Formats: sequence, structure tokens, C-alpha cells
Amino acid sequence: MNESELDRYSRQLLLPNFDVAGQLKLASSHILVIGLGGLGNIAATYLATSGVGILTLADGDQLESSNLPRQVLYDESQIGLNKAVAAAEQLVTRNPRIRIYPMPHKLEAEALHRAVESADVVLDCTDNFAARQSINRACLTYKKPLVSAAAIRWEGQLVSFLYHQQASPCYECLYPELSDQQLSCNESGIIAPVVGMLGVFQALEAIKLASGCGEVKHATLRLFDGFEGRWRDMRLTQDPECVACLR
Ligand SMILES: [Zn+2]
Repeated sequence: MNESELDRYSRQLLLPNFDVAGQLKLASSHILVIGLGGLGNIAATYLATSGVGILTLADGDQLESSNLPRQVLYDESQIGLNKAVAAAEQLVTRNPRIRIYPMPHKLEAEALHRAVESADVVLDCTDNFAARQSINRACLTYKKPLVSAAAIRWEGQLVSFLYHQQASPCYECLYPELSDQQLSCNESGIIAPVVGMLGVFQALEAIKLASGCGEVKHATLRLFDGFEGRWRDMRLTQDPECVACLR
């Protein structure tokens, strides 16, 4: 680490349970962020400014003005741009020392598998169940840690699966089917800071996984009720019928 890096990351380096070792590990890690909406915006920002070595950003959508209340990384001049490209443009100004690779398309099939295989940690910041299931299966295949979050209305949820360390359960044990749960904030609405909060938690879990510092709970569904201001934890168990983790 050079002088300017020691200075930049000094508040993290001061932590005895993070220190230079944690920072160096973070700097050598590759984190894949899939979805650059409200969750991905916030998570990718903290990952970039904290000094993750490589950040791959994948999103096929274009920025619209109705995104701006939650997707605070962007500015009005970027409306119409692909979100992965727009996020990369902004993040390079926040931390030019790291490598940022935008993938300006919907990540699926072979491309999804290649991206997951090359990452150390995967963040699912998407807003639909089909994408979530594909990401889950790719993470299971390559035994990559998956940090998944979602937010809708006043509620959010966060769950991490440490597939690199432990077997089962998986995301599809929790949500086995595409169903009426396939709601997104496009139809149901969302209060902006709730999605930001979940994005912050995703960044925190990813930093802990990438640096090897701190505890990440495996397969514990953390539910946040922003209206009441409460968190509730639920331990997940394997679904004996799950088609994904029993493959
Ligand atoms: Zn499963």
C-alpha cells in the first residue's frame, strides 16, 4: 500500500479487527454486483470507496427519471444511459484507484456463469425472481458467497448464503417458485431510504466476506420493517424438495 492509500483508507486501517491485512484482502478481491438500481447503487458506492480491488457491474436497463429518488449515485444528465455504464462513470470519480468493469446487458446464461465464476463475492441487487433464481444457481455451481437483498413498500430483506463454506439451504429453498411474490417496486412502490438501507447492509456483508473480517450469518433471513423501524431474523432450513441445491 502506498502513502496515498494508507491515508485514504486510514479509518478502516485503524480498526484492530480489520487493519492492513483486511484492507489488502479487500484490495485483492473481485465483487460482482448484479443490478444497478437502488440496492446496487448504494452497495457499489461503498464497495468502490472502501477499496475493493475489482468491481464488475451488470445491468441491461437504462436510467429513467423515476429511478432518481432511490438511485442516488446517478445525476439527471445520465438519464437514458445504461445503468452499468452510468454507475461506472460515477464510481470512477469516487475512487479512481480501483478497477471497474461495466457489463451493459442483462446478465444471463453463459455470461452469468463466467461472471460468477470469476468473482469472489456476488451481490444480487436485481428486482425479479427469474434473475434471482439464475444467480442463485450460478453461485451454487461455483460455490460463491451470495448476498441477496430486496426492498418493497416500507420493507426490506437481506440474506447471505456462504456457498463457499457450507452446504444448504439455498435461495430457492426460501422461494421455490416464480409466483405472486414476483412483485417489484415498479408495481408496489417503495420508500427510498429503505432500499438504501438494504444496499448498505449488502455492502457491509460483502466487505466482511471479501476481507475475511467479521461475522456473516449463513442463511438467516433478516427482515426489516421501515414503517415500524424493526428488524426480525429467521433461520432458514433446507427444503427437501428444492430442485436447486439438491441437484
Ligand atoms: Zn435449495
